[in-house]
Amino acid sequence: MTNYDARGERATRDVVSRGIYAEMRAGRTGPMGGVYIQMSHLGPEKVAKTFPGMVNRCSDCGFDLAGGRVEVVPTAHYLMGGVEFNVDCSTASPGLFAAGEDCGGVHGANRLGGNGVANSTVFGGIAGDAMADYVPGVRQWKEPDRRVIERGIERAEYPFSKPAGAIHELRDALAQTMWDDVGVLRHDAAMRRGLESVASHHRALMAIGVPDGDRRYNVTWHDWLNLQSLVDMSRVITVSALAREDSRGAHFREDFPETGDLHSSRYTRVSADGDDLRLEMVPVKFDIVRPGTSLISGEAGQPPKVAA
Ligand SMILES: Cc1cc2nc3c(=O)[nH]c(=O)nc-3n(C[C@H](O)[C@H](O)[C@H](O)COP(=O)(O)OP(=O)(O)OC[C@H]3O[C@@H](n4cnc5c(N)ncnc54)[C@H](O)[C@@H]3O)c2cc1C
Repeated sequence: MTNYDARGERATRDVVSRGIYAEMRAGRTGPMGGVYIQMSHLGPEKVAKTFPGMVNRCSDCGFDLAGGRVEVVPTAHYLMGGVEFNVDCSTASPGLFAAGEDCGGVHGANRLGGNGVANSTVFGGIAGDAMADYVPGVRQWKEPDRRVIERGIERAEYPFSKPAGAIHELRDALAQTMWDDVGVLRHDAAMRRGLESVASHHRALMAIGVPDGDRRYNVTWHDWLNLQSLVDMSRVITVSALAREDSRGAHFREDFPETGDLHSSRYTRVSADGDDLRLEMVPVKFDIVRPGTSLISGEAGQPPKVAA
C-alpha cells in the first residue's frame, strides 16, 4: 500500500480500494484474484483481541486473520447517494421522512469506517422525533392518490404478465457491468459502455417475469422487483458519475483524477422525468465547516476554524 499512499493500509478506504484494484488489474493477485492482508506483525494475540469479530468470522471460513494471510478484494458495501433530506429527516414530499443509508449527503464523497451505523441510528432517532412532532400538527389527512396506487400495483404485478426467466443470471450480469464499467476506477468510455449495458439489462428484465402464483412470501417476485430497483439505481449512478468530471472520495475518474476546487463544490441531484432522468449540479452550502478547516484540532492541516 505504501506504493499508493504514505499512510499505507491506514489510508482511507477509497484510497485502499483503488490500490487493491490497481494491483488486481495489473495481475498481481493471489489464487482467487484478490490481494493479501496480513496483520500478524502486530502480534496474533493483539489482532485477535482488537478485532475479535473479523478474526472469528475469518476463522469460521477457514482463514487465520490473526496469524496468517487472508485474500481480500474491494466491494460495494455502501451507497453514498440517496434521498435528499433535511436535518430533521423531512423530505420534499410532505409527510415523507427518510433516514439512514437511504439518504444521501451525510458522508460527502467518502463514508469513513463506523459511520454507516452511526448515521442510521442518529438520523433514525431524529426521524422518529420529527415524525412524532409532525403528526399532531396535521389538520387534515389527504385522501390517497388512487392513480399513484394503481400505478404501484401495475408495476408490482408486471412480472406476473411475462414468461418466467433467469432473474439471478441477469442480476449477476448487472453487477458485472457495474463492477467493470462504473467501478473503483472510472473513465468516460467505460461508463458510456456501462450505460448501454444497463439499458440492455433493463430491456432483458422487462421481457421476463416470474411464475404466476401466490403473492404471499413470494421471494422470486421480490427478487424481480429488487432487480428493477437495482437497474434504476445503476442508471442513476452511471449518469451521475459521467456528469461529474472530477475525482472525489469513492468516485475516481482516471480521465479526471483531480479533485477540483473544493470551495465551489456541487452535489449531483437526479430526478425522474417520465422515462428520462433530469440531472442538476447543486452548489454545496458550507454552513459549519469549510474546505481546509476542521472542528478537530490539528486536522485538515490547520488549527480549528469554524465558519461564522
Ligand atoms: C458488508 C457490510 C459491512 C459493513 N460494515 C460496517 C461497519 O463496520 N460499520 C458501519 O458503521 N457500517 C457498516 N456497514 C454499513 C451499515 O451496515 C449500513 O449502512 C446500515 O446498517 C444501514 O442501516 P439502515 O437502517 O439505514 O438500512 P438497512 O439496515 O438496510 O435497513 C433497511 C430495512 O428495510 C427493510 N426493507 C427494505 N425494503 C422494504 C420494504 N419494501 N418493506 C419493508 N421493509 C423493507 C430491509 O429488509 C431492512 O431491514 C456495512 C455494510 C455492509 C453491507
